[in-house]
Amino acid sequence: MKKCALILAALAAPTAAMADLYGDTPDAKHAWSVHDRNRPNPVKISAEAGKPPSDAIVLFDGSRESFEKNWCDWKGNPSKWVCDGKGEFYTKPGWINGGTIRTREEFGDCQLHLEYRHDADITDHPSGAQMRGNSGVFLMSNYEIQVLESYYTDPADMRVPNYADGQAGAVYAENPPMVNPARKPGEWQVYDIVFHQPVWEGNKLVRPGSVTVFFNGVLVQDHWEMEGLTTHCTRRPLSPHALKGPLTLQDHGCAVYFRNIWIRPLPSRWDNKTHSTLSAVETKVMALRRKTAELLFAKIANPAEISADNLIALAEVISYAKEGKYDEAWNKAADGYLAQLKKKSCDERKAMEKELARVRKNLKVLERNKLISSKFPLLSELEKASCK
Ligand code: MG
Repeated sequence: MKKCALILAALAAPTAAMADLYGDTPDAKHAWSVHDRNRPNPVKISAEAGKPPSDAIVLFDGSRESFEKNWCDWKGNPSKWVCDGKGEFYTKPGWINGGTIRTREEFGDCQLHLEYRHDADITDHPSGAQMRGNSGVFLMSNYEIQVLESYYTDPADMRVPNYADGQAGAVYAENPPMVNPARKPGEWQVYDIVFHQPVWEGNKLVRPGSVTVFFNGVLVQDHWEMEGLTTHCTRRPLSPHALKGPLTLQDHGCAVYFRNIWIRPLPSRWDNKTHSTLSAVETKVMALRRKTAELLFAKIANPAEISADNLIALAEVISYAKEGKYDEAWNKAADGYLAQLKKKSCDERKAMEKELARVRKNLKVLERNKLISSKFPLLSELEKASCK
């Protein structure tokens, strides 16, 4: 459901009682008040144990159909990687797999889940540690999270010692994993990755990209801000690329097996339309506040009615947009309520004690958020210690 439809659904829901103001009201960086009951609830999805979340795009479910539908070689032709439909696909050693594969669909920012394993009897390779089960998860085809047999990393276990920024869990050639939680060869290894691409304005980098990696459930990359596009041996600087790109798995001439791959595209962290002191886009926040004010105002049957409920409904409207017809209706309602109140006897006011306390409480929230001053006439009247 689109965001606008969600807001409409939330506002159309019947309410048992008029919602009193409570938390701090919207401001330039926040489209919703604190604890706002008009704010749409997150979309409900299912997340059953051992299954992809219901809103994920499944890139491999174990079947040959799933592999052929979602993966291809670099040119878009059927891949030469092996998928026998028994729950995994794999590369064979010796550079005979036709090269790297990629997803047919392209992605940008995302959450990715992927599992891989090596043969239990994987052996050392004459060419060294980087040939010990090497593959790689290339996000947008540009940023590699290394795949390598990395349980045995002691130089005594290997013919040629490995380097830290090239083992499993590394942002290849940039940042080693914080720890090494690799399981023994033969066991499935699990990656859960959150990726955000760098943001550019022309050739100027305005927001760094980042990658967070959980390796077998352990945080190994903590919001690492990528320094460059992955390459070997040299520091290759970042540069702008298309906003979407395929997910790529590297063929490094080694035997590596994959299963359970799913992805959830994510919105950009830097296009925040609703709330964030740091990243909200003020024009978009104000547009949403105006939309909410409009919807709430339209629900008021008679804005000129002199009643506590009407006053509080209008207080809610101006908490989103204190301007134009909303502000005019609010001031009229407050003046009308004040004029009626001034005609009441002390006994009548005493009988209205609960209502007046409620109106005062709502006005105090407006005052706290500088939407009215402490000298607002109705508030001043309600603040009086006694009625004489
Ligand atoms: Mg690699």
